[in-house]
Amino acid sequence: MIGISKLYCGQVEPSDALRYGRESGNLPSHLLQFSKDKKPVVVWNMTKRCNLKCVHCYAQAVPVDGADDISTEQAKTMIDDLAAYGAPVMLFSGGEPLVRKDLVELASHATSKGMRAVISTNGTLITKEKARELKGVGLSYVGISLDGMEEVHDRFRGVPGAFRKALEGVANCQAEGLKVGLRFTINKRNVGEIPGIFRLLAPVSTTWCTRAAVPSSSRKTWITPRPVRCWTSSWTRPAPCSTPASPKRSSPWTTTPTVPMCGCA
Ligand code: SF4
Repeated sequence: MIGISKLYCGQVEPSDALRYGRESGNLPSHLLQFSKDKKPVVVWNMTKRCNLKCVHCYAQAVPVDGADDISTEQAKTMIDDLAAYGAPVMLFSGGEPLVRKDLVELASHATSKGMRAVISTNGTLITKEKARELKGVGLSYVGISLDGMEEVHDRFRGVPGAFRKALEGVANCQAEGLKVGLRFTINKRNVGEIPGIFRLLAPVSTTWCTRAAVPSSSRKTWITPRPVRCWTSSWTRPAPCSTPASPKRSSPWTTTPTVPMCGCA
């Protein structure tokens, strides 16, 4: 994997490979993807269960009271195998990974095997206590998805209060010193939210990752009319934004263009 955004934003220089070499043991964690002796990052969708009902859900998420396919012990065996193989990072995703009661236990297991453990989440279930537990087992990073400011985000997510809960999750992570970043997937329904997101982030120190939508939707709700180029960019602590407030959104989401698009955790 090539971290275009790290190169683009000056977090990584071509000379870093000379300075640090490419042995993973000599590399700081943000350069691990450039190592020559490490294997690919693993993203594990550990559950299909989720507490939200996003219009763009790519995961065919099911309600939280269902069962998961893999038990805790089976998951540990899988993590053992991946660690032995040399995978440097275990990214726990879903569904919503925090609905699994064994998330902390499995993240702990991954870090005990020398892997970097990170999660991709909607953020709504990260209480103060959960953030403390995750920090305690050595979780490296929490990625939280936002689709816009409150009205737009909650409409995307299908659950009132999702926006405020996600921001509480961000705050709880930061209070525990957990590195946290926001993911914002741009599409025609939320592009006008970008200035608001900038204003939201200006006072806090977090990263922002923007992505174009990717073609998938299990809820048959198309959010953009045709495929668009995918890219990622991120930076830390954006400058205060002077862009005017976002334009008023036009219509409810009842149109049905031709290609399903999605974005999430
Ligand atoms: S897109 Fe993610 S947060 Fe939304 S319902 Fe699906 S799994 Fe849950």
